[in-house]
Amino acid sequence: MARAGSRDLLATYKAKRDFGKTPEPKAKRERAKGNSFVIQKHAARRTHFDFRLEHDGVLKSWAVTKGPSLDPHEKRLAVRTEDHPLEYGGFEGVIPKGEYGGGPVMIWDEGTWEPIGDPDEGLAKGDLKFRLHGHRLNGDYVLVRMKKDRTGGKRENWLLIKKRDDYAGDGSEPTQDFDTSVKSGRSMDQILTGDSAIWTSNKAQKKTPVARTKRAATAKKRPARKPAR
Ligand code: MN
Repeated sequence: MARAGSRDLLATYKAKRDFGKTPEPKAKRERAKGNSFVIQKHAARRTHFDFRLEHDGVLKSWAVTKGPSLDPHEKRLAVRTEDHPLEYGGFEGVIPKGEYGGGPVMIWDEGTWEPIGDPDEGLAKGDLKFRLHGHRLNGDYVLVRMKKDRTGGKRENWLLIKKRDDYAGDGSEPTQDFDTSVKSGRSMDQILTGDSAIWTSNKAQKKTPVARTKRAATAKKRPARKPAR
């Protein structure tokens, strides 16, 4: 459904993936509504942490090589990546080898975020201040866009920095303290060897099948639920 004046924010996401081969969510932009954030640990060619903030009906995304820190002295390189569909925030599973970003993906943290100041201005100016309410990450952060890419390429390099507050701690590295999924409790290895994906978004979540009783078996089939929109 096209919206007036809206660019196709997910065009790059779509172009990079073959949805016949990857279990990742399809490129579907949703109505701007929520303020979720998710951090996904992703063991692709190099392990990194994908930092995603819901905004404008998509997940604005950065790949944080070393992961987020709670130490205000740490400036973590955060390479801007393509906008992802909101449904991606519920994705934990395995991207097949040979596909884009092949490797296991873990939901390392999730919660909500609130911008400090105007987020559109912050994104445009390259100075996005916000507060996180997660399980493992809380408090104020800033994402600052660096002036120049060393490689002169098209990569957009930002820095993710913890602001000093009650949640900050010198030397505090939550990515070392927590190495399992905040969603399923699984390790990367368990994700890699286990079921391909669990879905936690409302839309995709399947109910656990219940043993069919005689009554259930003979009950009239209900028509399939219509998608939300
Ligand atoms: Mn990634």
